[in-house]
Amino acid sequence: MSGAVHELKVKRIESGTVIDHIPPGQALNVLKILGIGGGSDAVVSMVMNVESCKGPGRKDIVKIENRELAPSELDQIALIAPDATVNIIRDYTVVEKHKVVLPKMAVGVLRCANPNCISNTSEPIASEFVVESTHPVVVRCVYCERKLSGNLADHLL
Ligand SMILES: [Zn+2]
Repeated sequence: MSGAVHELKVKRIESGTVIDHIPPGQALNVLKILGIGGGSDAVVSMVMNVESCKGPGRKDIVKIENRELAPSELDQIALIAPDATVNIIRDYTVVEKHKVVLPKMAVGVLRCANPNCISNTSEPIASEFVVESTHPVVVRCVYCERKLSGNLADHLL
C-alpha cells in the first residue's frame, strides 16, 4: 500500500488520540472500553482490517478527536490489544507516541469465567487478575486461579 493511500484512509486530526495496531476485529471493543457507543457525541473514526505496514497481517485503527486517554483506559486496551500504539495529536502534530504497556494486574475490569468465583457473588469484591503472559495475553484470577485467555474482550466488565 502506498503512503498516499494510507494517508487518505487515516485522515489527520487536529487533536486527539490515534490508537494504531489494534488486532483486526477489536476496534469496536476498544470503543466499548472508552465508553463510546450509541448516544455518545465523541467524534470517532475507525478503520478495520487494513494491511499493517509493519508486516504481514491486518489491523484496526481508532481515532478519537479531542480526547486523550486515562491510564486506566490504556491498561484495559492493552489487555485486548497488547501491541497497540497510542499517538497523541495536538495541533495536527504527533506530540507523543508510545506502545501500550500491559499492567501486571487487572483489577475491576474483567469478569471471572468461574461462576462460583467469589468475585462473581454479591460480595463487594472487585475482580482481580494477575497478568501471566502477553503473547497471547493470559490472566489468572487471584481468587479462584481460573485462567482467561483468547478474546479477553468477551470478559470485559
Ligand atoms: Zn475467579
